Amino acid sequence: MLEVNNLKVAYGAAPALWDVSIKVQTGELVCVVGPNGAGKTTLINTLAGLNRASQGSIVFHGNDVTRIAPHKFCQAGIAIVPESRRLFAGMTVLENLELGSYLPEAKARRKDTLEQVCELFPAVRQKLPMPAGSLSGGQQQMVAIGRALMARPKLLLLDEPSLGLAPSIVMDMFDAIRRINADGLSVLLVEQNVSMAMEIAKRVYVLEEGRIVMEGPADDLMRRPEIRKAYLGLD
Ligand code: ATP
Repeated sequence: MLEVNNLKVAYGAAPALWDVSIKVQTGELVCVVGPNGAGKTTLINTLAGLNRASQGSIVFHGNDVTRIAPHKFCQAGIAIVPESRRLFAGMTVLENLELGSYLPEAKARRKDTLEQVCELFPAVRQKLPMPAGSLSGGQQQMVAIGRALMARPKLLLLDEPSLGLAPSIVMDMFDAIRRINADGLSVLLVEQNVSMAMEIAKRVYVLEEGRIVMEGPADDLMRRPEIRKAYLGLD
């Protein structure tokens, strides 16, 4: 469903991604892992139309979306949960969620989708009238994921959902992502938390210094000595 071919993205004269090619099949949960500064956020933002590619292509459901306007990525069915969540702290949780369903089709099904989000994250239901800024980090992450789901996307992009969360909350978050995928939504996740990513993803790409240096089924990568040593701290 998503095919990224030879993507190059630069900030001014400084390239952040070189020749990146990845694929996500319908219904898959794919993860791109890599250290700080590898280009994960640049990749996910480019796939959501927030950065522009200088070379290469992004094909979504057979359509070349590389150069379409940023707001059309959402219309095409791609929703992003950005790094640091980017909620409107002074608005209520409900208002934040409703912002995700501004397109007519999603708006028409707002009530049903909200119910699905509340079933997925029962803690969010309790907080609907509260200002989003008053929630804990984990709850805010749930709202950010919920807001993306409110758009009823075909592909969900997640930028480091575990960032800044306590380990027990991280487990819950990954469990929710697994359930979202099991319900049929295709997911592309970028993560520094390699061990968790390997647990939930079917296929994994390793991004280092803007290049994909390894890819394969998560089980295979977990067995590779270089991955075990560099990313999992295991011998
Ligand atoms: P992190 O986990 O720290 O967010 P990352 O893997 O997401 O890292 P990016 O944020 O995509 O990496 O950064 C990739 C490279 O691009 C880095 O060298 C970074 O300094 C650079 N970069 C990112 N954003 C900008 C920007 N707005 N302007 C200039 N350079 C940038």
